[in-house]
Order: sequence, then C-alpha cells, then structure tokens
Amino acid sequence: MDSCDVLIVGGGPAGSSCAWMLRPSGLDVVILDKATFPRNKVCGGWITPAVLDELEIDPAEYSRQHVLQPITGFRTGSIGGQPVATDYGQPVSYGIRRYEFDDFLLKRSGARLLQGEPVTSLERSGDSWIVNGRMRTPLVVGAGGHFCPVARFMGAKFGEETIVAAQEAEFEMDARQQARCSIRAEIPELYFCADMKGYGWCFRKGNILNVGLGRMDKHQLSSHVAKFLDFLKATNRLTFDLPVAPAGHAYLLYGRTTRNVVADGMLLIGDAAGLAFSQSGEGIRPAVESGLLAARVIATAHGYSRQQLVAYRTLLSARFGKSEDHWVTRIGSRLPQGWINTAARQLLANRWFTREMILNRWFLRSHEPALEC
Ligand SMILES: Cc1cc2nc3c(=O)[nH]c(=O)nc-3n(C[C@H](O)[C@H](O)[C@H](O)COP(=O)(O)OP(=O)(O)OC[C@H]3O[C@@H](n4cnc5c(N)ncnc54)[C@H](O)[C@@H]3O)c2cc1C
Repeated sequence: MDSCDVLIVGGGPAGSSCAWMLRPSGLDVVILDKATFPRNKVCGGWITPAVLDELEIDPAEYSRQHVLQPITGFRTGSIGGQPVATDYGQPVSYGIRRYEFDDFLLKRSGARLLQGEPVTSLERSGDSWIVNGRMRTPLVVGAGGHFCPVARFMGAKFGEETIVAAQEAEFEMDARQQARCSIRAEIPELYFCADMKGYGWCFRKGNILNVGLGRMDKHQLSSHVAKFLDFLKATNRLTFDLPVAPAGHAYLLYGRTTRNVVADGMLLIGDAAGLAFSQSGEGIRPAVESGLLAARVIATAHGYSRQQLVAYRTLLSARFGKSEDHWVTRIGSRLPQGWINTAARQLLANRWFTREMILNRWFLRSHEPALEC
C-alpha cells in the first residue's frame, strides 16, 4: 500500500495552495483529484490582487503564457436600472481562465499528483486513514469543493444547506459576436437582482466572454438567468444568443454554514469548508487563504488529533471573523421586500455608495490586506 504524510482531496485553488505552502516542510504531500488537469471549473474567473500576492505570482510573468485580464473599473447597477461607471485608472482586479489558472497552480504545487481518481472510500485504521483502499495517511485535507467527499464524511448535509446557486457560460467570441458585444474587457459589468439576492455579471477577458448569474436562492435560477440575458440584449450590451448553454454549480457563503471544519486526522479548506465571501461570492481568495492557513497549522502540528487541528479553526475565525453577515443583510432580513427593492435601486444609482461600499468594501475588500504568510 502507498502512503503519504498528507493527502489533499481536490486540486483546485484551495488544495494546490495548501500543498504549495507545505513545500518547505519536507512532508510527503499527495493531491488526489477525480479530474485530470487542465480541467474546467464553473466560475467567473475574477480574482482580486491579494490572490496573486499571497501566491507570489508575478502578473507580468503569468500573463506571458496565460490569460490575465487587468480590470480597471466596473459598470454596476440593478437589472433594469441605469448603470453607474466607476473608474480606478489602474488594475484593481484580474480576469483569469480557471482551465489555465488551476492547472498552473497545481503543477507548481510540488505535490505528488494522482489525477483522474475520485475518492470512493475513507476508512479509519488506528491513527491513519486508508483512502480508496490503497493510500495510508495520518491526515486527509478535504479540498474537493462544495460536494467534497471528505466534507460529506465529516457530516455535511448537502441538500439541507443555504447555498448560492450560480450559472455561467464562458466562450471565445467570433468576429460577429465581438461586433455585437459592448462589454469592455477592463470594465466588467455587474447587475444586481431587484430583491438583492444575487447578481449577474459580464466579464470579458480579451475576446473570451464569461456571462453568469448567482443567487442566494436556488429556485428558478434559469429564469433569472434568462431575464438577465434579455436585459443585456435590451440595453445593447450583448445582442446575440449565447453559443453555449450556461453550466451551474453551488457553493456556500462564510457565516451561513455549519460545516464542521476539523476532525481527527481531517480538515476542510476552500469551498469544502464553505468560505466564499458573503457580499460578493468571491471564493477563490478564501480558498487560497484557507489553504495557506491550514498549511501553517499542519507544518507545525505535533500530531493530527482534532484537538491539535482546532488551531486551524481559530485561524479561520481570526481571518474571516465569526460571521460574514453585515448590517445590510441584518437590516434587510427585517424589512418588507418592496422597501428593499426601492432602497436598493436608489443605492445602486448612487456613485459614492457604489464606489465605497459595493466595490471597495464588498467586492475588492480593499480594507483587508493580503494574508501574510
Ligand atoms: C458560477 C460560479 C461563478 C463563480 N465566480 C467566481 C469568481 O469570479 N471569483 C471567485 O473568486 N469565485 C467565484 N466562484 C467561487 C469559486 O469558483 C470557488 O469558491 C472556488 O473554486 C473554490 O476553490 P476550491 O479549491 O475550494 O474548490 P474547486 O475549485 O471546486 O476544486 C475542487 C476540486 O476537487 C475535485 N473533486 C471534487 N470531488 C472529488 C472527489 N470525489 N474526489 C476527488 N476529487 C474531487 C474537483 O475535480 C476539483 O478539481 C464562482 C462559483 C460559481 C459556481
């Protein structure tokens, strides 16, 4: 039977960041993923600069061989309302393609890679786990995304959680489509649903377009997406039918999940732990940061009992706070929906509120420096 010091299930940004951070530890780290990379991941592909800083990625170097679209402003509004343009005059975010980005991170993670193999069994044997009947390890890190099998093993109840349900379509536009698309690559567009339970986006990365919509309500998602696409057509932003059907996926927002993140010889990172930021739905940065924090605990732990791994949960709370719910959500839950719709329309049309609250605070988190590793 093969063995390793740490087995990471899932080679997305959470798993590969954890392995990358563990490189100097001398631990034998294996990443097991059911997919063979490069693989697609349903995602908008928007990242904040902290992600690059934390992973020590030089934008100029990365962009030599991969798509890295600088974002210097946003066009925002409500679906059906008048948009507001905010210009920063310098890059405040980037657009990447997950097909490339995740592959790049995985290849440089330094871990041994087992690809194309899903987790089918997890059994306890003394102080070790036996994974798929063939790999013995004292520590399993669950980084398998929302439906991570390690999270399920630790008690996550997939059908009973309050999820964000989202759909997106990403494709390369041909010349005719480019001519019928008014979205500018450096100015992505974000349009909120009238009830503020979600938003639609248009991210252009060169000639690659990513259009999608996510909501904190899984009902009638496809009809919300259809309405959003109608709005884009009616306002001449995108006047052709999508050439590919939108694909869907779910994830959890931090502060609204009860997933247990540590157990004897097990911990969860990234979407498996339910860490996406509640105001924006950004999940890549918390996936990376949780992977780095987990690595910090793993590298210095003198054993992997639940008590020894609880330090990771403490680090997560210190970094992300006890709950991500903020005053808008708290007030919003007490107001009639009609009031919320009217107030939201007015706030979304306000330049100061758009720049300072929606963009700087909720989306760019400019008040929160990159994690120091
Ligand atoms: C439509 C949509 C748009 C989004 N847009 C953005 C965005 O623009 N910016 C942003 O920051 N976040 C966005 N997110 C959230 C973001 O995609 C996730 O938070 C992020 O991918 C989490 O990374 P992860 O490494 O935890 O999981 P993942 O990226 O999901 O990686 C998990 C890995 O585990 C593997 N795996 C799963 N099950 C098994 C198994 N049984 N056995 C072995 N391996 C397994 C998978 O193959 C996968 O490679 C979006 C999400 C959705 C659904």
